[in-house]
Amino acid sequence: MEKTLIILKPDCMAQKHVGAVIGRFEAAGFRIVGCKLMQLTGPLLRQHYAHVADKPFYPRLETFMASAPVLVLALAGEQVVDRVRELLGPTDSTKAAKGTIRGDFGTDTTINVTHASDSVASAQSEIARFFAPGEILG
Ligand code: ADP
Repeated sequence: MEKTLIILKPDCMAQKHVGAVIGRFEAAGFRIVGCKLMQLTGPLLRQHYAHVADKPFYPRLETFMASAPVLVLALAGEQVVDRVRELLGPTDSTKAAKGTIRGDFGTDTTINVTHASDSVASAQSEIARFFAPGEILG
């Protein structure tokens, strides 16, 4: 079964949208197979965001992502990678349609509620980055 890596970002935690966001994943039929609360730090964030670590916005992104504990999930389901990305909407919350997670709850291009893997290959490496094998159940 396909899996994806989700991070409920500090804005999602602070604004108490955790239940609403997970509810959308459950309503879409996806199953939680991993879950942990984590305080992310610079070294892990620089790995996770290696593809944008040289961008001018990266320092603000790292400060934001390390500002409070986040909830990290692994979700399983058919075509979960692409279907969760559709539920999220585009990176820029101000351009995301109402009815999407970022469109309904996001603030801007950095503060955008939720991370979700962008391909099956990145989902596999991201799940391995955040979870030990025995922490994925199902
Ligand atoms: P996504 O999370 O939609 O897959 P990216 O992988 O391109 O987007 O970027 C990772 C994260 O970096 C985004 O979720 C967002 O928090 C931040 N980010 C991306 N692009 C920008 C940008 N142009 N300005 C500010 N922050 C950005």
